[in-house]
Amino acid sequence: MGAAENFRAVLAAIEDARRQRTLARDESVTLIAVTKNHGVELMREAIDAGATDIGENRVQEAAEKFPALERTVTRHLIGHLQTNKVKPAVKLFDVIQSLDSERLAAALDKAAASAKKIQDVLIQVNLAREPQKSGVLPEDFDALINFVDAAENLRLRGLMMIAPLTADAEECRPLFKQMRAMFDELKSSRTNFDLLSMGMTHDYKVAVAEGANLVRVGTAIFGERLYQ
Ligand SMILES: *Cc1c(COP(=O)(O)O)cnc(C)c1O
Repeated sequence: MGAAENFRAVLAAIEDARRQRTLARDESVTLIAVTKNHGVELMREAIDAGATDIGENRVQEAAEKFPALERTVTRHLIGHLQTNKVKPAVKLFDVIQSLDSERLAAALDKAAASAKKIQDVLIQVNLAREPQKSGVLPEDFDALINFVDAAENLRLRGLMMIAPLTADAEECRPLFKQMRAMFDELKSSRTNFDLLSMGMTHDYKVAVAEGANLVRVGTAIFGERLYQ
């Protein structure tokens, strides 16, 4: 199957998973086609099949690909962002999902100010406390959210999580549930706070069933990535 058929199959699986929800039943789910390590041709193919959102994990790769992509889509940065790349990141991305430190928030706020842009961001949470992963630890979350709220050029749209890669995605269900509860609690007292990004190829069905409303899927749409 090609990317277009795969994209539609993932959409159908998302719809099935959404029907299993006990909470947030009426909330729709946006599928982000993760195009990292794939060329512009495949990006176009996914967009022509209906993708409204694309995700890249590296600023440099996006800078090379986006100018050739003559399509209107929402562009998400899903990979770790270094403070020395905030300027191009603010120019290239509609949503930066990997905000995980005050230092990065300060740098992004400054870059957004000079670009005269209000930058949409998600706070990435390392809920499973995996040492090798990015994301703010739960005990540092409140300080970070207060810092982001005070930043004039950042708009906090929600939360992002990368679940541990387990043999069985079911093992991550409690984590997804916990993230949704955290999201709902914040959402009840905020405006413009509407995005919960969790779920990738191996676990998106469980994530959606537990209330993800943004999923980031690469392999299930485009096949295995070839790394140089
Ligand atoms: C690569 C990547 C994805 C997509 O992963 P697949 O397993 O190919 O679906 C999702 N989220 C992040 C943060 C990624 O880096």
